Amino acid sequence: MRLIDEELVMEKVNECFDTCDQLDLHFTAQDVIDIIKSAPTVEAEPTRHGHWINGSFIIIGSQLVPEKICSVCGAGTIEASDFCGACGAKMDEEAKDE
Ligand SMILES: [Zn+2]
Repeated sequence: MRLIDEELVMEKVNECFDTCDQLDLHFTAQDVIDIIKSAPTVEAEPTRHGHWINGSFIIIGSQLVPEKICSVCGAGTIEASDFCGACGAKMDEEAKDE
């Protein structure tokens, strides 16, 4: 699979359509195929999904605080948020017995 920018492709399609219309040329499926094929590849990283694993307790000041561990990268935190601050994983995966 090759990822391309849909907005950029639509812009090009509209430009070509307008140009063809002005020059009284037919805008064909091959023109659209050529635009899609010539669109630059977009780099994107797939979303990683993880969940928080209960870690051990850590001492902060004079308190024992439970640590949460990211199931994707293993980074620890004391605040379980919607995303891992270390690797960016979305923490929406259902926790398994670990
Ligand atoms: Zn992580």
